[in-house]
Amino acid sequence: MGGKMSNEYYREYYLKNREKKLIYAKKYAEENVERLRLYRKNYATANPEKESLWKYKWRKKNHIKCLLNSRIQSQYNRNRTMGKLSMDFVLKIYQSNIDYFGSLTCDYCKTILSFENATLDHINPINKHGGNAEHNLCVACKKCNFSKQDKTLIKWLFFQASREAKRG
Ligand SMILES: [Zn+2]
Repeated sequence: MGGKMSNEYYREYYLKNREKKLIYAKKYAEENVERLRLYRKNYATANPEKESLWKYKWRKKNHIKCLLNSRIQSQYNRNRTMGKLSMDFVLKIYQSNIDYFGSLTCDYCKTILSFENATLDHINPINKHGGNAEHNLCVACKKCNFSKQDKTLIKWLFFQASREAKRG
C-alpha cells in the first residue's frame, strides 16, 4: 500500500469511528478531570510561549466574553464586601439590562455604555437598608453612579432638580 492509499484508509477508518472516539474522549475527560488539569498545567509551564499564544487567540475570539468577565470580576470584587453577590447573579443583571435596552445602557440617563464604563448600582444604597436583591440593583454609568453616591433615588432626583433650578 502506498502512502496515499493508507492515508485514505485511515481517513475512512477515522470518519467511521469518529463518533465512537468522541464519546470515548468525553467519557475519558469526565473520568480524569484531575489528571487532565494537571497535564494541562504541566504543559503550560513547559511551553509558556504556546500557552500565551493560545490564550491570546482565545481572548481575541471571545473578546466580548472577556470584557464582560473582567467587568463582572471587578464588580464582584467591589461588591463582595457589601454582601455576597455571585458571579452568575451579577451576570444576570448585566444580561437583563442588555435584553431590555438592546445594548448595555445606563438605567438612569439611558446612555449606551461600553463594558469599561458600566458600574453596578444599588438603587437604594446598602447603608440606607437597600439590599443585594435583584430589584435593588441596576446598571449605571460612572457619571450617574458618582453623582448619586449613597443618596436614595428620591433624594438624588430632588438633588438634581434643585441643581437644575439653581442653574436657571
Ligand atoms: Zn447615567
